[in-house]
Amino acid sequence: MILCYMDESGTPELPGTTSHFVLAGVTIHIEDWKNIDRRMSHLLGAYGLEDAEIHTAWMMRPYHDQKNIAEFNIPDWPKRRQAVRAQRMSMLLKAQRAGDTKKYKQLKKTFKHTEAYIHLTLDERREAVEKVAAMAGSLGFLRLFAECVDKVHFAARGLQTSVEEQAFEQVVTRFQTYLTRVSKEDSQLYGILVHDNNATVAKKHTDMMRRFHTSGTFWRPIDNIVETPFFVDSKLTRMVQVADLFSYALRRYLENGERKLFDLIFPRAERVNQTAVGVRHFSAPSCKCEICAAHRYDAADPPPPA
Ligand SMILES: [Zn+2]
Repeated sequence: MILCYMDESGTPELPGTTSHFVLAGVTIHIEDWKNIDRRMSHLLGAYGLEDAEIHTAWMMRPYHDQKNIAEFNIPDWPKRRQAVRAQRMSMLLKAQRAGDTKKYKQLKKTFKHTEAYIHLTLDERREAVEKVAAMAGSLGFLRLFAECVDKVHFAARGLQTSVEEQAFEQVVTRFQTYLTRVSKEDSQLYGILVHDNNATVAKKHTDMMRRFHTSGTFWRPIDNIVETPFFVDSKLTRMVQVADLFSYALRRYLENGERKLFDLIFPRAERVNQTAVGVRHFSAPSCKCEICAAHRYDAADPPPPA
C-alpha cells in the first residue's frame, strides 16, 4: 500500500495573490511511515518544535516584532517567548485603541499562525525547514508528484476546467501511472490519497475522485487508487506537512528563483529514464526552468490537455 499525501501552495483563483498554484503529492510505502515520523520528531526536537505543526510559509517569513527584542541575543527559549508575547500583546492593544479593526484582525491571524515558532530567529526557523527538506529529499523511497500551474498561461489557454481541478486530475493520473508501473502482474500495488482537511477542497476532491472511479480521468482509468481521499488534521500529520513544504519549495522556485529548498526536494520527483515525469510546470512551451527541462515528454506521461 502506498500513501500519497497532498497539499497545495499559492491561490487557485485567477488572478489571486500568487502567479502560480502548485498541488504536490508526496508518496511513501506504508511500512516507511514509522521511519520518517521518527526522524522528523528527532530533528524537530532540536528546535523545540516536537509538538508544532511545520507550516513552511509561516516559518520562512520575517517576524518584525522580533527585531528589537534584546532577548534574541541569547538562546533562552522561555525568555524569548515571553518577550515576543509581551510585544504582541502591546501591538494588539495599540491597534484596538486606535479602532483599527483591519490591522487588529491581521495581527491576530499572523500571531496565531506563528505562535509555535516565536522562540526561534528567522535563521533558525529557515534552518529547521531546510533540515526537514534535506531529510525528506534524501529518502530514496519517497516520490514527488506535482502540477505547477502558471495561472497566466492557464487563463490564456481558455480551458473548460478550473486551476484546482486540472492540478488534482494531473496528480491523480500521474500517481495511478506510477502505481501501474511499479505493480507486478501477480501483485498489484494500491494507493490512497491523504489530504489536509479543508471543507471546500474535501467536497471537491471527493466528488472528483468518485467520478474518476467510475469513468477514469481524461487520460486513463483509475484502477489502483482506492477510496475517496482521507482528510486529516495537518497539525497532527507530519507527512502532510512535508507535502506542504514540497509544494512551497516548487512555487517559490518558479516565482522567485529561490533554489535552496528546491534543490533539496526536486531529486525526489518521480523519474523514468532520467525524465521527471512526476512533476510538470504548466506554462508556455518556451519556459526554460529546470522543471520544464527535466519533464520532457515521455510516453508514460499524459500529454497536456488539448
Ligand atoms: Zn517551466
